[in-house]
Amino acid sequence: MANEKLLNAVASLSRLAERQGLDEPQILEQAGRIVAGLVERDDWLPEEMAQPHPQYYRQYLLYGDPLDRFSLVSFVWGPGQQTPVHDHTVWGVIGMLRGAEVDQAYRITPAGAQPEGQAKRLEPGQVAFVSPAIGDIHRVSNAYDDRVSISIHLYGGNIGRIRRSVYDAQTGQRKEFVSGYSNAATPNLWAA
Ligand code: FE
Repeated sequence: MANEKLLNAVASLSRLAERQGLDEPQILEQAGRIVAGLVERDDWLPEEMAQPHPQYYRQYLLYGDPLDRFSLVSFVWGPGQQTPVHDHTVWGVIGMLRGAEVDQAYRITPAGAQPEGQAKRLEPGQVAFVSPAIGDIHRVSNAYDDRVSISIHLYGGNIGRIRRSVYDAQTGQRKEFVSGYSNAATPNLWAA
């Protein structure tokens, strides 16, 4: 059953969300393991949640915790697509499933948005983290300009509904946004 993996991951995430007294590094460690397990093999993502758009990157909701404690998203890059510089305001785990992406951290200064450190390339099976505590502002791009890449994102809240910010890459000027989700229907995890 193709979605057994997704269902198991969602069950593990729900158990993790139930646990009291974990600090963020502990949550990220556990959540990172669950996401790493999901991207270990590219054999479970429903085809409908792997479709690129010719113009925009897509964010398909795979599962949203009913209590908004976490959300799991399939992030689909068309060739050459990239995000604006943006933040999340909650912790996030990014696991590379297919293709590759490039992650550039940014710092917003009075002089504008400044790239911070080297860009990191994420290959299939690898996991990366964001959060206000460890660095929350970045720009992510498909590493390929001739093929689709897909990463699986887990956030510590309902990311499609959270008010957050994009920043002008030159001036650093902030604009509020809510990302929403690209799909009308989520995967059926309970099909026989
Ligand atoms: Fe991001």
